[in-house]
Amino acid sequence: EKQDENAQEIVIEEPVQEPVISQSEKKEFKAETRKLLDIVARSIYTDKEVFIRELMSNSSDALEKQRYAEISGSAKSNDLGGLHIDITTNEKERTLTIFDSGIGMSRKEITDNLGTIAKSGSQEFVKSLQNSQKGDTQTLESIIGQFGVGFYSTFIVADTVEVISKRDSNDSGVRWISDGSGDYEVATATNIGFERGTKIVMKLKPESREFSKESEVEKVLKKYSLFITYPIKINGKLV
Ligand code: ADP
Ligand code: MG
Repeated sequence: EKQDENAQEIVIEEPVQEPVISQSEKKEFKAETRKLLDIVARSIYTDKEVFIRELMSNSSDALEKQRYAEISGSAKSNDLGGLHIDITTNEKERTLTIFDSGIGMSRKEITDNLGTIAKSGSQEFVKSLQNSQKGDTQTLESIIGQFGVGFYSTFIVADTVEVISKRDSNDSGVRWISDGSGDYEVATATNIGFERGTKIVMKLKPESREFSKESEVEKVLKKYSLFITYPIKINGKLV
């Protein structure tokens, strides 16, 4: 067979760093969280892109907490220059990954923060929801828009959400993974590829594949990242 050398494509595979998982446990979402997730996942919410705003806001909070810990001297490291957000898109895998080198979460924190609806906004949301089921005319969409659902908004666009996080002071990280239905899994994770921070990997739903496209994510970022004072990179280039 004749080979055209010029047409030969050189594919450089990036080494994939797989976390090493141990002490895995399955946990059930609280009933009210499940209810919220169910609605979020099935919603035909038109403003899907808001999940980026929510994640940017969480990353910004986490970076701010780390910065505060560093200037107040309670953090062991002092790398103020290293506070940043790194976003990676992968169209082939249909994934979107958001990493921040913020304060990170311990196993207990990730379970408490992502397993229950602690924040008042979401509690208001559930209350509104109950009212709307009693004949209130307010639609679900407007309720979601009004309160925002924070981290859970990732399930508007993703089939599976994986969160890998590590605090400075901990030897190993933690992995939280869920498909947004009844339960989630929490495990100890080593070989995670970073010393401190939080990485969120979203395996996008086929109908939300646009968020695995660099240009689309960049467009949305420009809208929502104005208030963020830390550098944001997408696929290695500054936004
Ligand atoms: P809210 O930001 O209003 O508290 P969210 O649902 O957006 O609600 O997030 C829930 C919690 O999860 C946050 O308060 C925070 O403690 C934790 N969290 C979420 N994302 C991150 C992150 N990137 N780094 C550290 N902690 C996070
Ligand atoms: Mg938030």
